[in-house]
Amino acid sequence: MSETEEVEEEDNSFIKIVSRNHPIFKNRAATFYSMQNGKLNAEKLPTIPDNIIVCDGCNELIKDEEVGLLMLEPDRCWGTQCKKCRVEYYSELPVVRDD
Ligand SMILES: [Zn+2]
Repeated sequence: MSETEEVEEEDNSFIKIVSRNHPIFKNRAATFYSMQNGKLNAEKLPTIPDNIIVCDGCNELIKDEEVGLLMLEPDRCWGTQCKKCRVEYYSELPVVRDD
């Protein structure tokens, strides 16, 4: 039962459980864009080591063999969630396994 009767936008989000060896965690690099004297600078940031997975909810290191991904839609990953955050904030979402 929900506490509010508000009309909410359709929510397709779900939790996808993947192995910490999933390709999504390989070669994670980011580019930092900035403007300087009217010119756009693109600076490559160092690649994040494959085994460093941080929860986007609480910023704690995820050490489990399996990692929860908060998916907004089947092809849109919002970020990682540790088991604790998953239970605390997203327990109502469907959970699927990536086999
Ligand atoms: Zn967390």
